[in-house]
Amino acid sequence: MKIAFVSSEVFPFSKTGGLADISSSLPKEIAKLGHEVIVFSPKYYTVDEKKYNLEFQDWIGAMPIRISEKINNVYVHKGFLQNSNVQIYIIDFPPFFHRELYYTNDIDEADRFILFSKAVIELIQRINWKPDIIHCNDWQTGLIPLLIKDNYNWDKLFHQTATVFTIHNIGYQGKFGIETLGKAEIRKDYFYNFAEVEHAGDVNFMKAGISFADVINTVSETYSKELLTKEFSHGLDYILQYRSHDFYGILNGVDYEIWNPETDKLLKQNYNFETIEKKIENKKELLKQFNLPFSPDVPVIGIVSRMAIQKGFDLIANSLDYLSKLNFQWIVLGNGEKYYEEMFQSFSNFRPDKAACYIGYNDELSHLIEASADMFLMPSHYEPCGLNQIYSLKYGTVPIVRKTGGLADTVQDWDEMKNLGKETGDGFSFNDYNGFGLTDAVERAIGYFHDKKVWNKIIANGMKRNYSWTFSAEKYIELYQKAKSNRS
Ligand code: ADP
Repeated sequence: MKIAFVSSEVFPFSKTGGLADISSSLPKEIAKLGHEVIVFSPKYYTVDEKKYNLEFQDWIGAMPIRISEKINNVYVHKGFLQNSNVQIYIIDFPPFFHRELYYTNDIDEADRFILFSKAVIELIQRINWKPDIIHCNDWQTGLIPLLIKDNYNWDKLFHQTATVFTIHNIGYQGKFGIETLGKAEIRKDYFYNFAEVEHAGDVNFMKAGISFADVINTVSETYSKELLTKEFSHGLDYILQYRSHDFYGILNGVDYEIWNPETDKLLKQNYNFETIEKKIENKKELLKQFNLPFSPDVPVIGIVSRMAIQKGFDLIANSLDYLSKLNFQWIVLGNGEKYYEEMFQSFSNFRPDKAACYIGYNDELSHLIEASADMFLMPSHYEPCGLNQIYSLKYGTVPIVRKTGGLADTVQDWDEMKNLGKETGDGFSFNDYNGFGLTDAVERAIGYFHDKKVWNKIIANGMKRNYSWTFSAEKYIELYQKAKSNRS
């Protein structure tokens, strides 16, 4: 099959979260299965042409992309995904994409991703490549299925092209005013009378993707069930219920070429389960970097995260006083909502023996924290899949998670499994989204940390798990086939 994979971020060119990792690792895995994949993404100011050997596509020149009445000249660069021969086309329009943030609250936010979506389609026309599938990811690409079926339906190139829409996080929907219809040239009858692109009075790009794609999926089984409920759907459960026959859950895989403690070049000391005693060298290094005292008896809890309520930071805030009395050290890497950035900063200033934080994005540090910490905390309110807990398992860093979405599908609570007579637990999880649930899980983890026999068993269970793409990529192929049969 020929697959166009469209994403608003792709590692290492651009990244704010897990979508970037998936948009690099999944296309490579699909290509390994013998399919032809081309990736499409915007060129933000962070995308360094020289570093990534991007080639300007002179022969394409300026592609005129219309938004409302206005013609915008878009340029194209081409390169390859890291360590692969999978091609990536990077769409360049500096007035829209050379901004401090990838996603903004600017007045032309809708225009930015309408332009990107139309540019991808018109670029496919230019290169005269007939995709079987256009795989769209999250709201930024949500209009593509509609554009293909309607606006560009005149082009025979797309008559056999099916669309797949993957929901990576329904919390971000791309909601814009009614004027967006004109900008994207969307027919008004797709809006009025609660139609395909309308939700709560807005033009909703996420809903458009769900309405028009041939199949829809999300990134874990549990999240796919949660999304059918009011509690988790951010208002869109009704449209997912309506499309439930074409809606699937496929757990994300991870790229163990990048996330493997045995080969990870960003660590002070490589290790695997047989040499797990070497892991502590990373802990010493990390604590040194942050001027925290080292003690083998004091566990380090790591956090690497966007700082948003979704990730459970309100829960941490409410329990901070209690947690600060427990015997562990904290290393936190993240950025996002100012309130939580300041909370960790002032906590680190207040307790320099106990906590340290780095506010910002730092890929290298994220690897070192995964390898150095004894435990990794993800108390998410909701979590479509989550990657850090999967990386943590591989790095022998015991995850403490809230049992929701992909966290529920990938982490087995030690005590819960023990009560079932099984010693298969690889982490700690809690159900109820409250301070008691969180502190209880943290205290249980700290308790077992001092029981080395059990602790090593928990680490061993985690390091043996395999969440590579091999299994999930096959499921995406099945999904593509289903999309093709829905289209015909
Ligand atoms: P989400 O996509 O919701 O943010 P995921 O767990 O799916 O959460 O993926 C997060 C990815 O982003 C991981 O690869 C994680 O290491 C990375 N990440 C998050 N925050 C930072 C940061 N401040 N610096 C470096 N990497 C980060």
